[in-house]
Amino acid sequence: MEQTYKALVATRQDGKLSVGFEQLAASDIGDGDVEIAVEYSTLNYKDGLAMSDAIPIVQQDRLILGIDMAGTVASSDNPRFIVGDKVVMNGYGASETHHGGYTQRLRTNADYLVKLPAGINTRQAMAIGTAGYTAMLSVMRLEKMDVRPESGVVLVTGASGGVGTVAISLLSALGYRVTASTGRLQEADFLKGLGASDVINRAELSEPGEMMQAPRWAAAVDSCGSHTLANVIAQLHYSGVVTACGLAQGLDLPANMMPFALRNVSLLGVDSVHAPMSLREEAWGRLAKDLDMAKLEALTVNIPFDDLPVAPGKILQGQIRGRAVVEIT
Ligand code: NDP
Repeated sequence: MEQTYKALVATRQDGKLSVGFEQLAASDIGDGDVEIAVEYSTLNYKDGLAMSDAIPIVQQDRLILGIDMAGTVASSDNPRFIVGDKVVMNGYGASETHHGGYTQRLRTNADYLVKLPAGINTRQAMAIGTAGYTAMLSVMRLEKMDVRPESGVVLVTGASGGVGTVAISLLSALGYRVTASTGRLQEADFLKGLGASDVINRAELSEPGEMMQAPRWAAAVDSCGSHTLANVIAQLHYSGVVTACGLAQGLDLPANMMPFALRNVSLLGVDSVHAPMSLREEAWGRLAKDLDMAKLEALTVNIPFDDLPVAPGKILQGQIRGRAVVEIT
């Protein structure tokens, strides 16, 4: 009998997206020069958006979902990879224009794959996932702007989420004093356990605020956008820096010019999807070195593969704490 592989597939018909498990033949698991036995994937906010079609992430009529995966190379026609290599794929259009990671087997382009550095196994790679790797990219952008531990307090918004929890863990390990902004104050002890010195209520940031406010933050990692980001910009110190990667509050940005013109502040976009390979390899190398794997485990929850179709609501409603790993069974 022909070998088949279980995968979570999105199909668009008459404009409507439906999502369900299918058994795929080897000829249906994608195109490319490397085949991977997928071991773990993850649930990111963007996976929730893709599955619910809240934003049209899926741009093909039929696609395996999942923006991330980690696994072992099963066959390779590319000299960069040999059978047995442990690899990770983040973004690069996975689950948008080509097949993603919610599958037992994936055939894909070697250009999308990063070899995992020593010190990170495939489960840890997916505990990190796109959200954690984006947190690393955000911290690296702050460093390139010369934000140092002695610069002052760094704010992390969306603190209990995937980007937020990993950003707190990384920044505190690097010696920064971190304030966490969360709507889940019941998670204050958890956030302090990850390394936050202080925890504030996100309600302080999520409503329309003054154009210029008392300076509070030397830098910030924001994954919320909207009024939250606008208020953070208005609360940056002179020459303060904020990275912006996400839209958990909204994709609008109701900010004003004053902090830019009068306080010399910087707003830096962070994109993980099309980040060049050299930057990805640097980020994964830094994660292996700087992320405390015990803290990573503490911020990780497991979601069974079979539960994925009902999981989008949970992440879109902010009900998942930290990062969610999916073992591909
Ligand atoms: P999560 O859902 O894990 O975390 C988002 C967090 O934002 C929530 O946990 C919650 O934190 C907070 N939040 C939720 N709703 C609101 C709201 N209405 N107002 C203010 N805060 C809110 O998502 P991720 O961490 O995976 O992703 C965060 C964002 O970053 C998403 O928009 C995602 O699409 C984006 N992203 C972008 C990437 C890029 O390449 N540019 C890559 C990765 C992510 P709390 O409960 O603590 O308040």
